[in-house]
Amino acid sequence: MTVFERIESFATELEREAYEVGAGLKSEANFSEIFDRADSLISQDTVNELREAEIGHDERAECLSFLLCMIIDKSLKKVTDEIVTKELTSEVSIEGESVPYRQLPVMIANETDHKKRAELDLLRLDVLKTKLNDLSRLIIEQTHDMAKSFGYKSYREYFESIEGMNLDPLREETEGFLASTEKFYKEELEHYSKRLLGLEISELAQYDTMYMRRADAFDGLFPKEKMLASTWATMNNMGIEAEKHPHVILDIESRPSKSFRAFCCPVRVPYEVYLVIQPQGGVEDYASFLHELGHTLHYAHTDASLPVSARLFGDNSVTEAHAATLERLIHNPEWLMRRLGVAEPGEYLRYMNFFELYMIRRYCAKFHYELELHGGEKDVEQCAAIYAKTLTDATLIRYFPECWLQDLDSHFYCARYLRSWMLENQITSYLSDNFGNDWFDKPEAGKALTKMWSQGQKHRAEIMSASLGYEKLSFDTLIKQYGGR
Ligand SMILES: [Zn+2]
Repeated sequence: MTVFERIESFATELEREAYEVGAGLKSEANFSEIFDRADSLISQDTVNELREAEIGHDERAECLSFLLCMIIDKSLKKVTDEIVTKELTSEVSIEGESVPYRQLPVMIANETDHKKRAELDLLRLDVLKTKLNDLSRLIIEQTHDMAKSFGYKSYREYFESIEGMNLDPLREETEGFLASTEKFYKEELEHYSKRLLGLEISELAQYDTMYMRRADAFDGLFPKEKMLASTWATMNNMGIEAEKHPHVILDIESRPSKSFRAFCCPVRVPYEVYLVIQPQGGVEDYASFLHELGHTLHYAHTDASLPVSARLFGDNSVTEAHAATLERLIHNPEWLMRRLGVAEPGEYLRYMNFFELYMIRRYCAKFHYELELHGGEKDVEQCAAIYAKTLTDATLIRYFPECWLQDLDSHFYCARYLRSWMLENQITSYLSDNFGNDWFDKPEAGKALTKMWSQGQKHRAEIMSASLGYEKLSFDTLIKQYGGR
């Protein structure tokens, strides 16, 4: 087997394990065994082998980036396992009864009383402070050390070099986004904090957003029975094969330990892509189903003749943008009317827009904080205060320093999400500019989508953006939506 085939078969094993565990077909995850078996593959020797292989620059870069990520993950395996065990076994005491730590976010999201939410959150922060943060700090310190052992000054420098991605333009875009949408955001936040929570902005804290995000007032618009039918009708009208696509394996069967949240596992791209769902109905369930369907169709339509670097690896901002494009349908008034019979979506759409704006502002801030955390100049401990201040300033909602290592995606994934927000908005604007707001009923739009999907992740988000006729990957289309600039 060539080194590429070995890397692909390792990635396949990981995805298959994720599918079987998430779908409830297996009670225990064996990721450690998969890493153990691949010990000689996930190594400096393979890095050297790749560097010498006679392949194109992009192919080499994408495979190297995956391999180095896996080397980092492998070196952190022991500590990450320890964190998961601590999270699973930690308990807090509420009115004399012991409650699992992992239950707290659900309890906070369901708690209608602001003061009680605050009390529950104090218990959560205490577990972070006393049990988890020391381990999480080890993860960050070891990640930084690994980047240095690869020959870089900082993790940020490692990421930019290995991903071929300069983070400065993204910093400028996100700063521009925060400034242009601030006034509108503040007005909407004031409106919703009064209306939904009966609170002034100055009283808001992060735990209140957990309660606010449920949007269950609108769940009635999204009935469980219509979820699959409305989606398949949409795909049919666009001429896109979805549930009957030979590469798509739909897992709808209910099992006791199956994940409630939809997910996609691209086990072999494009031939074996799983979409696992357990329809519940409601806003969040529709959103996550359509999102995961977007990933599934992207992988299933990927051109099989592309190299592994373009089928499996590459810039994940692209697959996230394809996923978000389908998810965006639940923001489209035409789609809501035609597929779900929602005649007056005004109130719902205003709320969805507001909450999305909060999420993007939160991610902009997370990104600014991570630039400091991974920049190589600050001590990890010092960044707790930076986290709280940066997030609080951008969202106008109080964030707590204790969460600085927990509210973190690995491998700078927040940058991918921000880029995918930009690209998704450009794709959606492109579709409605060219085919109308009811693009989801037009076969031409289906053709445009399958053409993009067939390219896998051969092109980075910037190239995709340019191919749609945009000057650059930017937030401009989104800023207009929020009444800025
Ligand atoms: Zn996704």
